[in-house]
Amino acid sequence: MTRLTVIAGPTAVGKGTVVRWILDRDPEIRVSISATTRFPRPGEVDGEHYFFVSDDEFDDMIAKDELLEYAVVHQNHRYGTPRKPVEDALAQGKQIILEIDVQGARQIKHSMPTANLIFIAPPSWEELRRRLEGRGTESSDQVEIRLQTAKAELEAASEFDHKVINYEVAECGQQVLDLMQAS
Ligand code: 5GP
Repeated sequence: MTRLTVIAGPTAVGKGTVVRWILDRDPEIRVSISATTRFPRPGEVDGEHYFFVSDDEFDDMIAKDELLEYAVVHQNHRYGTPRKPVEDALAQGKQIILEIDVQGARQIKHSMPTANLIFIAPPSWEELRRRLEGRGTESSDQVEIRLQTAKAELEAASEFDHKVINYEVAECGQQVLDLMQAS
């Protein structure tokens, strides 16, 4: 049975909301908390949403081989998956979800070929733009950069084991949960 699930998909597609829906449904499932060099948004808590680290700290994690994968996302900051919590979860027979970008998903597929890669897609390009602008957390420059990344990410969907369209959170969450249980 595959216990490692990678969830990727373009910015603002609702990956985070889908993952929270899944965790509410099944508290036994764990989620990896990434390290990032970006600054916290209002309301984000260190150690809960991300481990917010400096560039030097991130370099140190790479040097010590403490990251399972890492990448520069949105042409800007670095994000990476701490190795130990994932290995601990798998050793304990727990399911664990990684919510990461497409570059990270490729690295995981390479290092852990049995991982289950699920791509979350938006209903349409217009809907994705609407969700991203509606979120209001990024400047207009950042919105444009994120849309550029999103285009490239949508083109990578075929590399994934499964693709689920996020029309609505509960429906999408249930489909992902079914895929996790079936694998
Ligand atoms: P945000 O800055 O909006 O929280 O996240 C930006 C992007 O970084 C998201 O698309 C998310 O999937 C990706 N991301 C978050 N954590 C990681 C990680 O540990 N590794 C990689 N490769 N990407 C990540």
